Parts: sequence; structure tokens; C-alpha cells
Amino acid sequence: MALYGAAAAVLEALERGEGGLKALVYNSRFPHVRQLYALVSETLRYAAVLEKVLSGAGLLQAEKKLSPQLAKVLVYDLLFGKGLKCGGRWKALARRHRARLQAELARLKVQQKVSRNEELLSPAQAASPAASQVPRYVRVNTLKTCVDDVIDFFKRQGYSYLGKAGSVEELRALSGKKFLLDLHLPELLVFPPQTDFHDNLLYTSGHIILQDKASCLPAFLLSPAPGSHVIDACAAPGNKTSHLAAILKNKGQIFAFDMDTKRLATMNTLLMRAGVTGFQLAQQDFLTVDPTEPRYSKVTYILLDPSCSGSGMLSRVPGQEAAVGAQRLRALAAFQRRALAHALRFPALRRLVYSTCSLHREENEDVVWAVLQESGSAFRLVDAFPAWPCRGLAAFPGAESCLRASPADTLTHGFFVAVLEPCGEGAAVPSSLPAAAEEKPQCGEGTEPGAAPKKRKRKKQRVKE
Ligand code: SAM
Repeated sequence: MALYGAAAAVLEALERGEGGLKALVYNSRFPHVRQLYALVSETLRYAAVLEKVLSGAGLLQAEKKLSPQLAKVLVYDLLFGKGLKCGGRWKALARRHRARLQAELARLKVQQKVSRNEELLSPAQAASPAASQVPRYVRVNTLKTCVDDVIDFFKRQGYSYLGKAGSVEELRALSGKKFLLDLHLPELLVFPPQTDFHDNLLYTSGHIILQDKASCLPAFLLSPAPGSHVIDACAAPGNKTSHLAAILKNKGQIFAFDMDTKRLATMNTLLMRAGVTGFQLAQQDFLTVDPTEPRYSKVTYILLDPSCSGSGMLSRVPGQEAAVGAQRLRALAAFQRRALAHALRFPALRRLVYSTCSLHREENEDVVWAVLQESGSAFRLVDAFPAWPCRGLAAFPGAESCLRASPADTLTHGFFVAVLEPCGEGAAVPSSLPAAAEEKPQCGEGTEPGAAPKKRKRKKQRVKE
């Protein structure tokens, strides 16, 4: 796919809340990821200006075949970027409208009494985005290696290991070629922001997964016991599925569903690379999965990470979260409620984790509360991970049992997690302790949600170099 088409596809996926900018770019299969990343992130930075220029010039009305995302990418490159060096027919189309677009840009500058393009950006857009403050989190894939070996590997690559972090402030202070073990999650290493490991051998061989800390919470809190049957309801591109498989030690069965063929293909590649076995991928609407089918009769754990507004993803332009329209938010929340209610219909369910990368209460606490109320007293919210500092908004009594994450409080992307369990007899799993508490990884230090960190013996296993 050509650069502009690939950039427009990433923008569309971002708008659908299908992941963060970096992940979408790297999963796009576009050969020049840095070029693609730079184009998309700059287009996002200028999105508000581009929308004004596009509407003033009437480009989308004149060119009905042009999607708003492709139009933004083309006009960004034409007016602010490298001036459409490639692009074939799209380049020709955009150039036909060049004079009108340039006039519209000039009009905006006059209106705002500025002379440079940069001055059209709000201070937040002009400043480095919050994403640049969030560390590079590296999840060790315990299906292929262990924490000690990965630490040794990075030491051999010239990084200094500073031990286990004692506070979020220590993570914030990281700089240079230094790294820490995370204070909350046992298999997570933390490097300074902007550290790029996409070309690192450990990443390309599936020994490490580049995953934001907040997005590691759902599988960590679901904590299925090895041997369990697990559903990952909205699974692609599969970082959480591979995390689940690592917790299961590849023992058990994961039923993973997603609607999107392309994302499922990427997911298949990622799972293979991560050494995941014992999973069934299905291109299926989770809402049509029949909970009474015999093959799901032993499903005791469900992870539900549905499509959302993605307003917590920091790679976006600051303030973009406000642009999610009320109608879209209502539609997303309606789907999320249906999916959560559907998930609770699986007869053997013992624990469910609901998560989003949205900041909106409508997609988070409100969804959980509505479905809990619908369920009568069949399910309850578990007070998950008491040590986690950032809690649910006070939308209903007990909402503080939910977890939130944010760049300011947890030095992560914005995120929401709720853990639900059946009340009464079905609730065989103790509330705030994962069922896999006794079954921790063979190497690495384990921290159970809510429990003090314990020293564990680490089994040596060489990382292939
Ligand atoms: N859990 C994934 C991960 O960690 O890589 C990210 C999931 S993303 C937030 C939401 C996913 O839900 C998208 O891949 C989307 O295609 C999928 N989806 C949307 N509606 C769905 C449905 N009705 N059934 C199954 N999957 C759905």
C-alpha cells in the first residue's frame, strides 16, 4: 500500500479506537514505518487546522471519492510537509486544489494574526504531547524467556539495570540507557520514553512485547489458572491474548474473536511469533457467539476489551478526545453494554475483566453499572488491585473498585479496567486474589494484585541471540 493510503488507514483505525498510534503503524505492514509514523503523528498534530482548511476549501464536497482521513494526510503533506513527493493519482488530485487550499491556509493565518504555520497550533498541540513523557514499557514474554535473561541481554547491549522501581517517580526520572523492573507488574521492564526496540532482536523474535503498562492490566487481573478455558471477546491485534497465553503457560484453551479480517491476520502472525499455542481464532461477532454451545461450557474466564473511543491513547493530538461526538459515544456505549451483558451469560464464568482505552465515564463506569444492575445480584464488582493508585470515578457506590490509568497518575496511557465475578455459589475464586496466585512464572519476581511482592526463584533459560 502506498504511503498516503497506509497513513489514512492508520487514522481510520485510530478513530475506531483499535489501538495506539505506534501499534497501528507497526502492525500496518507498511515497509517504512518511521516515515509512516512521522506522517500520521504530524497529520494528527495539525488535525484541527486541517479540518478548517478542508472545510473552507470545500475539498470533500468537490472530491466525493476522497475520505476525510486521506484528505487530511494529503493536505498535511501538501501544505505543511514534504509537498506530496509520492501519491500517484491522489497527488494529482490534491495538486488540482492547491491554490484553493493555500488560499484557505493564508486566510486562517490572517484571521488568527499569525505568520508561521506552527503558530496556528494550540499550545498543547505545539508542545510535545504527553505521550512523549510515558516510558517505553517492555513485557517479557515468559512463553519464550524469563525476566533475568532479558535483563542480562539488555545489560550486554549497554543498558544499566537499576533494579525494581519503588515508585512511579522513579519511572518518571528514567533517562539515558537505564532501565528498571516495574513496581506493579512482575514481567514488565521500564525504559526511558522514546526508546525504540522495534528493530531489536528480542522484539523481532517475540521474546519481548512492546505493550503499555495499562494495557497489561486486563490479563494480569484476569489471571486465569493454567489449564483454564478463556474467551478473549474482542481480541485483535492480540497483545492481551498473548499475555493471557503467557499467564496460562500455554496450558488450556483460548477462544479469541474479532470481526476484522486484517487485524486477525496480524494477530495470527503476532501470536505465532510469541510462541502462543492452544488458541482458536474466529472471525465472528462476539454478540453472536452462543454461550450455551457445549464447546464453551468450561469457559471460566472472559476478557472483554471492546472497541471504544480510544480517548485515552496518548499518540493522538491533545484535546482530540473532546472531538468524539456524543452520538458516536452513545453508539459505542450501547455496543459495550450489550457485549458485557452477553459475556455474563456464559454459564461457567468465574471472572470477567472489562477494559477500555477510553477516558469517558459513558464507556467505563456507566457501562459496568448499567450491566451490574441488569444482572440483579448475579454479579459483583471485585475490589481489584488495591495497591493501584488511580481508581474509578464516583459514578455509583463502589465504583472505586474499578481501576483507571492516566499519564499523570500512573505514567501510562489512559485506561479503564473493571473485574466482575459471580456472587454466591458460583464465586469460587477469592475476590482480590487471582486464581493463578500459586502458579506464577517460573522465573521473575511476581507481584499479585493487592499482595506484597515476593522473591521467587528464577529458572535460567537462555535468550537466543
Ligand atoms: N484486545 C485487543 C488487544 O489487546 O490487542 C484490542 C481490541 S480493540 C480495542 C477492539 C477490537 O474489537 C477491534 O479489533 C475490533 O475489530 C473488535 N470488535 C468490534 N466489534 C466486535 C464484535 N462485535 N465482536 C468481536 N470483535 C469486535
